[in-house]
Amino acid sequence: MTHGFDTLQVHAGARPDPATGARQTPVYQTTAYVFRDADHAAALFNLQEVGYIYSRLTNPTVAALQERVATLEGGAGAVCCSSGHAAQIMALFPLMGPGLNIVASTRAYGGTITQFSQTIKRFGWSCTFVDFDDLAAVEAAIDENTRAIFCESIANPGGYVTDLDAIAAIADKAGLPLIVDNTSATPYLCKPIEHGATLVVHSLTKYMTGNGTVTGGAVIDSGKFDWSASDKFPSLAAPEPAYHGLKFHETFGSLAFTFHSIAIGLRDLGMTLNPQAAHYTLLGIETLSLRMQKHVENATRVASWLENHPAVEQVTYAGLPSSPYNDRVSKICPNGAGGLFTVALKGGYESCVKFVDSLEIFSHVANLGDARSLVIHSASTTHRQLTEEQQIAAGAAPNVVRISIGIEDPEDLIADLDQALAKAG
Ligand SMILES: *Cc1c(COP(=O)(O)O)cnc(C)c1O
Repeated sequence: MTHGFDTLQVHAGARPDPATGARQTPVYQTTAYVFRDADHAAALFNLQEVGYIYSRLTNPTVAALQERVATLEGGAGAVCCSSGHAAQIMALFPLMGPGLNIVASTRAYGGTITQFSQTIKRFGWSCTFVDFDDLAAVEAAIDENTRAIFCESIANPGGYVTDLDAIAAIADKAGLPLIVDNTSATPYLCKPIEHGATLVVHSLTKYMTGNGTVTGGAVIDSGKFDWSASDKFPSLAAPEPAYHGLKFHETFGSLAFTFHSIAIGLRDLGMTLNPQAAHYTLLGIETLSLRMQKHVENATRVASWLENHPAVEQVTYAGLPSSPYNDRVSKICPNGAGGLFTVALKGGYESCVKFVDSLEIFSHVANLGDARSLVIHSASTTHRQLTEEQQIAAGAAPNVVRISIGIEDPEDLIADLDQALAKAG
């Protein structure tokens, strides 16, 4: 029997605790698990039996969350990790090696641009950034050393909706996996796997948890990519020396990526999600659809109001008819364009700073996707490390403020924005 989204967000991955009957998923606050006997231990360590060994690899609370996010995204399996940025490294790790590259969208979260343009170089990996609205440029950026294509479904923060089907067709033709960061949309608004994504990554820190309590990440595998079709993905297709020559793809099929991410990725990189954080995220996901509906409803009202304000130059909410991405909403994110957008003020940088400092309900923080409304002046904070050219490409020009609309009363949010805009001049 298949269930609807609202049922799955409450039940997927969780069942009454077999030991106690506890109805809510317990926080299994334990480091290790007793082996039944030495043979059981050996089978677990050889990956011949699935079970719990040590919480750097697997933990029952985290496992419930992994099953829930995999189910909601329509994937075969998922691995959770300590943050969204950890998830991006975990997604690339089985695919990459020194000298190899990825092709990524210029319109990405500022931290992602820094991670891909600077930090991954230390592993000998590199990234070519292109405008993903220019399909010919995406295709031209792929070379024989490319191992993945990376973009966001609704890009943070500029309100860009990616034509995932078109990008997936390019990835398919090149025999490469498409990785989609679905943080800003969540699986309630967008299902990247249905549009051809191979892997979906999340910052669980944002809407998935939804209350600003934890950092967490996840990589969901569609289970659909043929890792053995070329010799490009030896970590998944070729014999693995650390497991007596085991071939992950041949042995685990559609779960190859997930098993590799746990047995090698978490084992050796150690970017593990802790069970307490998994518990908060499980609680948050129970109300995901309710919150996302309210985020979308509020964002639509507030963005339309802002668009008509005389101090405002532009609002980049894909849910507005004025957005060039508006016609992609019904195709890519049919339940709405999310709760995140940017507003450009006619008064420039100075005006933005005054505006942000004058808000009372909105908090000025480096977070988004909270039940509370949040703002940030990206150019002076999250996107500070980028050049002005990169800032503009990422939708974070100096006169732009990012707004993450919460689930409060929209009239109160509008009143707060109104008084702050008056002070900003
Ligand atoms: C926040 C965010 C990340 C990074 O996630 P962390 O949990 O902060 O590491 C990646 N992508 C997007 C779109 C984000 O909003």
